[in-house]
Amino acid sequence: MLFPTYQRYDIRVAKGEGVWLWDEAGNRWLDFTSGLAVCNLGHCHPRVKEAVQKQLETLWHASNLFHIPLQEEVAGILTELSGLGAVFFCNSGAEANEAAIKLARKAARELRGIERPHIITFQGSFHGRTLATLTATGQEKVKKGFAPLPEGFVTVPYGDLEAVKQAIDGNTAAVMLELVQGEGGVRPFDPSFVEDLSLFCRERGILFMVDEVQTGMGRTGAVFAFERYGVTPDVVTLAKGLGNGIPVGAMMAKPELVPVFGPGSHASTFGGNPVAMAAAKAVLQEVRRPELLGNVRKQGERLLDFLREKLKDHPKVKEIRGLGLLVGIELTEEAAPVIQSARERGLLVLPAGPRVVRILPPLIVTEEQIDRAVEILADSVAALGVAGQ
Ligand SMILES: *Cc1c(COP(=O)(O)O)cnc(C)c1O
Repeated sequence: MLFPTYQRYDIRVAKGEGVWLWDEAGNRWLDFTSGLAVCNLGHCHPRVKEAVQKQLETLWHASNLFHIPLQEEVAGILTELSGLGAVFFCNSGAEANEAAIKLARKAARELRGIERPHIITFQGSFHGRTLATLTATGQEKVKKGFAPLPEGFVTVPYGDLEAVKQAIDGNTAAVMLELVQGEGGVRPFDPSFVEDLSLFCRERGILFMVDEVQTGMGRTGAVFAFERYGVTPDVVTLAKGLGNGIPVGAMMAKPELVPVFGPGSHASTFGGNPVAMAAAKAVLQEVRRPELLGNVRKQGERLLDFLREKLKDHPKVKEIRGLGLLVGIELTEEAAPVIQSARERGLLVLPAGPRVVRILPPLIVTEEQIDRAVEILADSVAALGVAGQ
């Protein structure tokens, strides 16, 4: 049997294609979870499938004892798109953030002479489930039961620049944040806050690290969310959508930090394996296309506008917010009944914290599918009734 670590929906999945997911019995859902922001191009995307199948014919794995030409190629695409200097490949979001944390600590020590570096993160953030990344995460529920936790993290209130300034001292190595908090409730940071924070970090020589595990790979209407915010991070992490379902993560950093991760400093057995790289290369070729990114912005705005139009006067809807195709509906009560009701009506969406319905359609979603989903969501919220008002 499995560890009962997940609270699972009562669907036994069998097959996926594009925006659709089927169960074993042949029932079909419009999948606006995208496998948790992983299958951004839709399930079983034909060009990613072809690239992986082709790679399976030649080489699956050789280890990082060797030069892996596909790794160099994908790193080249990522550095070209991001403007950063180098890439370390791993297998998940938590591992990408672990790499970023390790890099920040080593850089603080070697470049600034800091002996006990710490990293500042925000309340409501989510950075992963390893010991370091759950300590970085600004949510108590993921830490419960796992003490003792590693040192070197300071959490400050969401969007509070004064609190950041107060938390900073001579030992501050980095500030790390998601530009739109995903798991924490689909909360986009205010653009002027992000700009001020990035400038402040630059002035003080503190690394500005952006966790793009959920917001990256086209999700917000640009390849990286930092482009939509107009800021230049020192370190960026990726995973989820990078392989469209083939596990792969990446940590990228600016050129000055590259020598900090010299030979022997960090490693991952599977990291950047040829099959994962074949998937990532095909995904990047698709995700960078202006038509796809344009579709994300267009359908994202349509989704936000229509949801607001249909739901803004509902007494149980507190706020509808998002960026690109990462959208949330915050309710005044538990979101689970709305999510279940949508599922019964043929639409899969997710929670983000107890009161937010998180909507993550594949980036290839059409206008008709957006409209259908909004209709289902409006009905599902209406089914809550307005009792008690
Ligand atoms: C999902 C997520 C992670 C963790 O990724 P895993 O692949 O589950 O380790 C980290 N950061 C953010 C922003 C995420 O959304």
